[in-house]
Amino acid sequence: MESKWIVAKFGGSSVRDAVAMLRCSQIIENNPLIKIVVISATQNTTNQLEFVAKAAEKKDQETLDNVTSEIINKHVAIAKELFTSPQVMLELEEICGELKALGKIIFDDGKYSAKTMDELYSLGERMSSLLVSDLLRLRIPKKKIILLDAKKIIKTNSDYGKAEPQINLIAEHLAFEFKNSSVEETLFVTQGFIGSDLMGNTTTLGREGSDYSAALLGEAIDAQLVQIWTDVPGVASSDPRIVKDAKFIKNLSYDEATALATLGAKVLFPTTLLPTKRKNIPVFVGSSLNPHATGTLVTREQDAGFSLKGVSQMTTSEGSTLISFVGTHLDQKEGLPTLLQSDLGKESFEFFDLTSVSVSFKATHVDEKNEALKHAHSVLVKYFLT
Ligand code: ADP
Ligand code: ASP
Ligand code: MG
Repeated sequence: MESKWIVAKFGGSSVRDAVAMLRCSQIIENNPLIKIVVISATQNTTNQLEFVAKAAEKKDQETLDNVTSEIINKHVAIAKELFTSPQVMLELEEICGELKALGKIIFDDGKYSAKTMDELYSLGERMSSLLVSDLLRLRIPKKKIILLDAKKIIKTNSDYGKAEPQINLIAEHLAFEFKNSSVEETLFVTQGFIGSDLMGNTTTLGREGSDYSAALLGEAIDAQLVQIWTDVPGVASSDPRIVKDAKFIKNLSYDEATALATLGAKVLFPTTLLPTKRKNIPVFVGSSLNPHATGTLVTREQDAGFSLKGVSQMTTSEGSTLISFVGTHLDQKEGLPTLLQSDLGKESFEFFDLTSVSVSFKATHVDEKNEALKHAHSVLVKYFLT
């Protein structure tokens, strides 16, 4: 049965520093239906944790020490700015201790496994969620803030680095936590991206996988809505960082959003829409910098006829750029691949694939990075976006 609760996920840029965390807190304070808050590692921390592993593996003590200190200093500075409680400060120090210890283990071994990397990765989300949970305790005193250990909830197989979630176990474990707390008065905070296998070893869902965690938790409680708060006000017709006139899309179907994400639009982790589609839970994508902007709502509603909404790019395994137009009923529009290809320029774009939600081309002669995407977006705007 559908619950009234909302799961809200905040990405790395949304929790990048103390001010950003305060913005997240405001969003949560303003919506009492938010029951589970999913937190990513602070911006760039996951990359820095990879640098730690690589420096330690190469026995590069100086880089190892520098990156380790950068990670620690960044989190301690946020903690101080947010008046973090002494108890939580101690917990943060413990995690910092684990970071140094893992770096040393890899350094001594001269190598690391995907399993060790997952343990190391998990420290990023553990630090950020710890800080946000303590901030929420200060800001929302009437609620009991429980920091849930995602490893106890997000049960996965042992495919380290890209683990498969076990959805029945996730639902069972989360129901147990809900049963043992007075849910109405409680706000749960947990980590995105991480989980654990049946032996209790830490696993991760794949880089950028916190969106997926939020969707899995939403599915487990049959949430009324999953919110993905990021640094752009929704899913756009193309990557707004690259294409300056990209337009934000108000509504997308699960299949369109999945196609865009799978074909390169980094704003959503590709499997995010699977759990939400299974339970018919709408997914809102919005900007924590501008929470009142319209954003994008992803639902099962599909346009009745042909429509083209976005274009994305990705690098294939052979290193070429794949440009994909995404929309609905694309296979019903006669001659669409030929039409698009002639607009794009036959010499530079080779037809690759057509499905009901996507038409893809391989960009063959693109000199400058992102030029193919910009060009493809200009074709989309000229002919298909009104
Ligand atoms: P977070 O840290 O919140 O998970 P991400 O960096 O994973 O954020 O995703 C947001 C970024 O996705 C945006 O800053 C934007 O550059 C990029 N992006 C790529 N394609 C799109 C698109 N079609 N619409 C919106 N954003 C996109
Ligand atoms: N922190 C993880 C990463 O950067 C997961 C996420 O942010 O979605 O890959
Ligand atoms: Mg992301």
